[in-house]
Amino acid sequence: MKQLAILGSTGSIGVNTLDVVRGHPDRFKVVALTAGKQVDLLAQQCIEFKPAIAVVADADGATRLSKLLLEKKIDTQVLYGPDALVSAVTQSNCDTVMAAIVGAAGLVPALAAAKAGKRVLLANKEALVMSGDLFMQAMRVGGGELLPIDSEHNAIFQCLPNQFSRDQSSSQGVEELWLTASGGPFRNTPLDQLVNITPEQACAHPNWVMGRKISVDSATMMNKGLEVIEAFWLFGLSLEKIKVLIHPQSVVHSMVRYRDGSVLAQLGQPDMRTPIAYGLAWPERIDAGVAPLSLTQLASLSFSEPELERFPCLSLAFAAAKAGGTAPTVLNAANEVAVAAFLDEGLPYLQIPVVVSKVLESIPAANADSLELILAVDTRARQAAQTVVKDILCKR
Ligand code: NAD
Ligand code: MG
Repeated sequence: MKQLAILGSTGSIGVNTLDVVRGHPDRFKVVALTAGKQVDLLAQQCIEFKPAIAVVADADGATRLSKLLLEKKIDTQVLYGPDALVSAVTQSNCDTVMAAIVGAAGLVPALAAAKAGKRVLLANKEALVMSGDLFMQAMRVGGGELLPIDSEHNAIFQCLPNQFSRDQSSSQGVEELWLTASGGPFRNTPLDQLVNITPEQACAHPNWVMGRKISVDSATMMNKGLEVIEAFWLFGLSLEKIKVLIHPQSVVHSMVRYRDGSVLAQLGQPDMRTPIAYGLAWPERIDAGVAPLSLTQLASLSFSEPELERFPCLSLAFAAAKAGGTAPTVLNAANEVAVAAFLDEGLPYLQIPVVVSKVLESIPAANADSLELILAVDTRARQAAQTVVKDILCKR
């Protein structure tokens, strides 16, 4: 029986994870659940799965959650705050951690899971973007297994040799990784109409149902840029060998090109329960509750190169990846601030890359060799981004 902690259990990935777990009560026991602010949903999840520990963001939420659980006589221990996210990993007796908090907030508990030698199911790509080197080191020292949940990286993981080693990709015949991207809701929108895009339009992804931040990232294609950096750390290939292809149908989740001319692809429905079930049960395969793929019902599968002038965020991510060090940390922090300002404060859609680019220009890349330094750069980049956002909003 696997003992599972879910960081971010009330989000899109968290809810899908619990859906897979629900179908396999003989395999998985939920021992810790965490959420930010959605106390009611977390309470329902605790009543159903009876974890040892539940964590929310603040004291008010903890009081409310404790009350809701007391009414139902559930004896889950309720904790709150960032340190409690680490406790959910280190004090719940879990062996497997789903890291599915969105954004930089998920970094410290994901690192704790890596250091503690857990099986880490990594959805929180921002953790790898901010601190790829430290995170991969922590996994090595901890000695646990790292299974990518992001659908593209999960697909690549499935297409690589069983004994794949990130230090020896070349001797194993791996030439390139091809990350597929749907192109988001604005793939064909005339460029002059992008000016007035609303959050609702940006969050209406054509193929996937996801949290709001990653939905906006998919629209700008910053998501694919973050995923290139994620693939770089996970699989150890140089950046030139990681390619992005627009594939509007979201059926081929990514591919590996080998030296002998073979290209291996993983196909499936655009349903995150497939990669989640794969990570949970690996190396076995279990029912994920996903409808079978019917190739004959698909009109076509098409692939094209991304238009960089349509997706400036993709170019910014490539540039930050190339600069290395703390540049991806800065990119990620500025993007999180810009996306939040677009969603909640009226920052125009087309200003998201402007904010990211200005912040990248203002903070030179340094070596990303300690967590303290990375967190300090993250804070500095967020402050710089807030200033740029304020400036833009004042001038409107
Ligand atoms: P979401 O917004 O739906 O859920 C985020 C979860 O994190 C929620 O449980 C929320 O309560 C929690 N959270 C947010 N801020 C927090 C904070 N400050 N402290 C503690 N908890 C906090 O997001 P999502 O779509 O589930 O995405 C989660 C992660 O998985 C992201 O990193 C995303 O890039 C990645 N991912 C998601 C998908 C998808 O299909 N949704 C696919 C691939 C990768
Ligand atoms: Mg993805």
